[in-house]
Amino acid sequence: MATLLVFFVVAVAAFVIMGGLSFRSERREWNRGICPDCFRPWKCFDWDSQGGRMYKCGGGHYVDITAPWVDRSYSQGCGK
Ligand SMILES: [Zn+2]
Repeated sequence: MATLLVFFVVAVAAFVIMGGLSFRSERREWNRGICPDCFRPWKCFDWDSQGGRMYKCGGGHYVDITAPWVDRSYSQGCGK
């Protein structure tokens, strides 16, 4: 029983750490609304069923934002 509990705790911790890392990379890609590769503003063009927002810049780059706080002030204009 104790082994199962330890396994559960480790699994949850791993999930949280992985999730935190992926959100952190979203934040870096999002770069406060500006494409980090060509410095053009991200424009929302799609909204997926999981609530993720798809953005593209004018230079052919794409970013998929799933963390709700990363693009908070921009996601309102995205077609829900
Ligand atoms: Zn770009």
